[in-house]
Amino acid sequence: MLIGVLKEAGAGERRVAATPATVERIRALGYEVVVEPGAGAGAGFSDPAYETAGARLGDATGADVVLGVGAPPPERLGRLRPGATVIALFAPAADPAAAAELARHPLTVLSPDAVPRISRAQSMDVLSSMANIAGYRAVVEAAHAFGRFFSGQVTAAGKIPPAQVLVAGAGVAGLAAIAAAGSLGAVVRATDPRPEVADQVRSLGGEYLPVAPPGEEAPAATGYAREMDDAYQAREAELYAARCREADVVITTALIPGRPAPRLITAAMVAAMRPGSVIVDMAAANGGNVEGTVPGERTVTENGVTLLGYTDLAGRLPAQASQLYGTNLLNLLRLLTPGEDGVLVLDQDDPVQRSVTVVLDGTPAWPPPPVAVS
Ligand code: NAD
Repeated sequence: MLIGVLKEAGAGERRVAATPATVERIRALGYEVVVEPGAGAGAGFSDPAYETAGARLGDATGADVVLGVGAPPPERLGRLRPGATVIALFAPAADPAAAAELARHPLTVLSPDAVPRISRAQSMDVLSSMANIAGYRAVVEAAHAFGRFFSGQVTAAGKIPPAQVLVAGAGVAGLAAIAAAGSLGAVVRATDPRPEVADQVRSLGGEYLPVAPPGEEAPAATGYAREMDDAYQAREAELYAARCREADVVITTALIPGRPAPRLITAAMVAAMRPGSVIVDMAAANGGNVEGTVPGERTVTENGVTLLGYTDLAGRLPAQASQLYGTNLLNLLRLLTPGEDGVLVLDQDDPVQRSVTVVLDGTPAWPPPPVAVS
């Protein structure tokens, strides 16, 4: 079968769904590969590098299997070969109506962002790959906007205190942000309703701030956050009101699967922060954790607090984001190529394959049945 790698259509998207290294490994699975000219340019992968890896350059829309990063626009889907399989970030959980619309096309649509968060599927978990990069990049963006040292300095000309960084939400992105801010020398504190993350925060050199007294924390039944009750939210608001005032940098990463992002930081809390401080709202694309952040934008409040609502943080490290995304797709293709013979076989009895299937041969397949988290 022929696998096609799209040149991304999304404005500002610099990632690519396959790198020269993953093209070689896709070919080792028995596939031929065609890459659209310039597909890797934004991530630093040249056309000749793909050719050296064994791909040919050309239009990917006639391929049997088409790989993308962002969901291709409808007119592009309309040009794909009937019966083709397209694999890209369609985000069906965020917009089930748009997912149903995809069945207008006689295609099979697979969305790797829907890989279940189970151990067996970790090597295909694009959300974790991108969250890890985005958390790191959030710190780089914050440090740039802050414009001061993160580490404390003792110099002949005086002492500079370390930056105080607060991280809200210690999942994959939050832990990456804690590690990056700590390695720059900041004093890092973090909070999360899942008490089991406390040890992970400490192991990265951060201080864990519990919202609820010990014994009254959120139950850790599923390992995932849920919406918190009013009493918890009131305590949480007290914590953020106090901690934001003394923070130089706040990075918010809080998400609840299948729900809008929780609103953690109000405009009044932002107004009480020191001029020159910075907030990165990593949940901006999901409704935002911070009142006032504008998705995709850098804004400055009246009291001089910079709000960063960038929604493309992973794409701001395009080479490595492409490398990890491409490797996740390669691992998915391995699962879908049991004979290693260049023939894609989709097994709907396998929970991982079923979970990523949004449309099967033009028939809506979303949502999949739930998979128990392990
Ligand atoms: P996520 O992106 O859905 O959420 C980010 C964080 O926000 C979570 O830690 C969540 O607890 C937190 N949060 C929710 N409400 C909050 C609030 N009110 N205040 C502060 N924080 C709040 O989560 P994620 O990073 O994708 O993953 C969460 C967990 O799942 C992690 O422990 C991760 O290790 C685990 N995980 C497991 C697998 C697997 O394969 N087993 C794969 C990926 C992630």
